[in-house]
Amino acid sequence: MKKTDKSERNIVLSASAATESGNHLAEGNFTLKRTNRTLTSTDYGTAGHGGGDPSPKYMLLYYMSHRDTNLFKFPIGIGETWTEEGHWRVQTKSRLEGYESVEVSAGTFSDCLKHKTVFTDADVKDTKTELRNALLNGTRYLWFAEGVGLVKLRYEHSNGVVTEAELLEYKIPVEDQEYLPLQIGNVWSYKWQNTYRAEAAIEEWRVIRNFSEPENLDTPMELVSARYEIKIDANERRVANVMCVLTPKTDSRGEVTSPLQTDQKPLLLSMSHFGTEDLYDGYSRYLRELTATDTDGEKIPVTEIGKTQWMVEVENDLPVTLRYKVLLNHDEREWAFGRDEAPYVQEDCIFCPGYALFIVGEVADIELRVDVPDDWHVSTPWNRIGNERDHFAITDQDDLMYAYLVLGKHSERMAESEGTEVLLALGGHFKASMDEVQRTVKSLLHTYSGIFGGTPKDRMLFVANPCDIYSGGGVSGRSISVLMDGTLDADNRQSWTPLVAHEICHIWNGKAINFRGQEYWFSEGFTEYCSKISCVRLGIISENDFLRDLERKYKLYLSKQGELSIREAGENKMSNRELVYDGGSLIAAALDLLIRKHTQNRKSLDDLMKQMYREFGLTGNEYTMNDVIRIVSQIADEDFEPFFKKYVSGTERLPLADYFMNAGIDVEIAFGEKLPSLGYILFQMLQINSLGGPTGGGMFIHQSPQYQDDDNLIGINGTPVKFFDDIRKAAKDWKPGDMVELTLQREGENVTLPITLAGDPSESPPLEPGPIDVTITKKTDSTESQRAIWSGMLGNGNPSQVEIL
Ligand SMILES: [Zn+2]
Repeated sequence: MKKTDKSERNIVLSASAATESGNHLAEGNFTLKRTNRTLTSTDYGTAGHGGGDPSPKYMLLYYMSHRDTNLFKFPIGIGETWTEEGHWRVQTKSRLEGYESVEVSAGTFSDCLKHKTVFTDADVKDTKTELRNALLNGTRYLWFAEGVGLVKLRYEHSNGVVTEAELLEYKIPVEDQEYLPLQIGNVWSYKWQNTYRAEAAIEEWRVIRNFSEPENLDTPMELVSARYEIKIDANERRVANVMCVLTPKTDSRGEVTSPLQTDQKPLLLSMSHFGTEDLYDGYSRYLRELTATDTDGEKIPVTEIGKTQWMVEVENDLPVTLRYKVLLNHDEREWAFGRDEAPYVQEDCIFCPGYALFIVGEVADIELRVDVPDDWHVSTPWNRIGNERDHFAITDQDDLMYAYLVLGKHSERMAESEGTEVLLALGGHFKASMDEVQRTVKSLLHTYSGIFGGTPKDRMLFVANPCDIYSGGGVSGRSISVLMDGTLDADNRQSWTPLVAHEICHIWNGKAINFRGQEYWFSEGFTEYCSKISCVRLGIISENDFLRDLERKYKLYLSKQGELSIREAGENKMSNRELVYDGGSLIAAALDLLIRKHTQNRKSLDDLMKQMYREFGLTGNEYTMNDVIRIVSQIADEDFEPFFKKYVSGTERLPLADYFMNAGIDVEIAFGEKLPSLGYILFQMLQINSLGGPTGGGMFIHQSPQYQDDDNLIGINGTPVKFFDDIRKAAKDWKPGDMVELTLQREGENVTLPITLAGDPSESPPLEPGPIDVTITKKTDSTESQRAIWSGMLGNGNPSQVEIL
């Protein structure tokens, strides 16, 4: 193993903050670069909340890490002074002042290096600009003890606020004479406080990475094949033991590579980052005991060089064996994409997506063996090799990473229609509903193949498991996952089929028909509409339920309409669901009605979907919005560009009433009066930092100095309040300086608390739209052509489709 002396090192510290009583507040990380000459703070990131801290800097590490400034210059000398420009154009002047003895909870440290930095001229371009600038500008003192690290911090901010931190405990396993020792495993815990915090915070810092980047990372070793094996024991179901043999491509010159050769390419390995934006260590959080060995069984060092990225400095072109464990504890936390797309362990089965399980390199020839007890099923979307139950062929690393695996005593069956195969894997009490689910999926496949005029031939995996705390579904590669409450029985089909129908529809729209860039309004919205009308056509949901669902969607769409366009909203489809899913499906409904009107009901949205499947689903070409505009315009023989400009890429309100009139359906909207914003009432006027509820019948106050934790807000000025909108209504005419009376339930007693409303009296509270009401009803006096359009949409009088069920 060659050991070159690399002077530049990248160091990552993770941090987590909690209250003294142990309530989690936030987590983050900061990165440093160490050379022979400097130790520089290069970046930081945090996630979480400050637990009532209204300042934007709710972690201690903010006060330590100013991007692109030097914490130290080497060699260290008293009196040394340096000036720089940091992030937000802040001007810094640092000076090493001398040595002082410091007494903190962790002990007394003589000869601490006193480090002073003056920050001026910060020009923050972000939210809370004024406060951020005030906190950033000021004078910061740091005291470092040799071999220990940061012992104390005092930051005198330009607005008079002071932040103070002291070292509580530290662990430096390997002795080190640096003023800030940065070996992996070093841990410090600090107690810190400023006037923004109701309670002191405890923050722990830990060095998690310290590596130098090799020079030849750009040209990694190429691989010819990867052979994976997963082993899970019945009595240790939360541990997946993974082994992988990676075989490199031999040198193209056909020469045997000399072990002395110094330009040997490193083996680069990684795990997916999918859905782990807020985790500094990604899926490697659950990884243990990663090792690499050569063909003689000798260990080869594995270096972590980034978030879920590793380098193995191999010395020849012989196969390398990786071994590691994955702890399947992912269901202990919330995931941005929902619980249905992260590993979980149920009583009878284990669900795991490939991205949480596999460390991969760039390789096309992949096989997987799964070693589980004989009475377990192994359900995957992959083709089996031979007739072996547990041996699979995988196309490439994406096919491996973006597939789901279900292992256990769940039940497994194939649903087939028109050549499309969907392998059903049902766990828990859903197993009892296998016949019903198989029948439903088959009829959905049949209906969709009618709408799209064909069926994709890939095999898909469909996983459904019961979950009483979460309901949702997702698609990844050739796999679909659904978690839901309740049962999958025939007598409550209307409650579970829509979610299943939506996900199955993605086999066509989303998987076969795919976009270039970002067109989630089509891929999610049109999927939602097609699956809903299919459920009506199959008699699974009634016409009345369909109308109620439209009302709900239009209301949700209207609550966000105007803020950003339906198309733009797709940049963050989960937090803009009202525009992407609800708005997108209303665009589909509008187009269905408009096409039918322009063609005397001879053409419909089905013709658009058929053409999309022909042009993009069958060819693999990717569509853009212009393709949709072109096809709709062709089918309806009318220019639809203005429609898309207004309602899809623009923010104009979709006039749904005009379109539904063509089908004899009345759409009425009632906008409630504008009311003050809830945020302004709570945070500014009432000084309530956290209000829980309204679930459980109360609104509980937390982390607000003027109140007691668990004060239950039940009335304002003698009027009961139950929901957030009740507070907004009560605050309709409030002005800062007014006196109001809150009724609180405090330790079982009703307490009346007079409050003087805070805020600037010269400013009136910001108003936000009031509640919106939408009523959609079928006219009793509709014309024959209106009735024809309506029954065409919902497929009434089409017995061939109803018969299937
Ligand atoms: Zn979807």
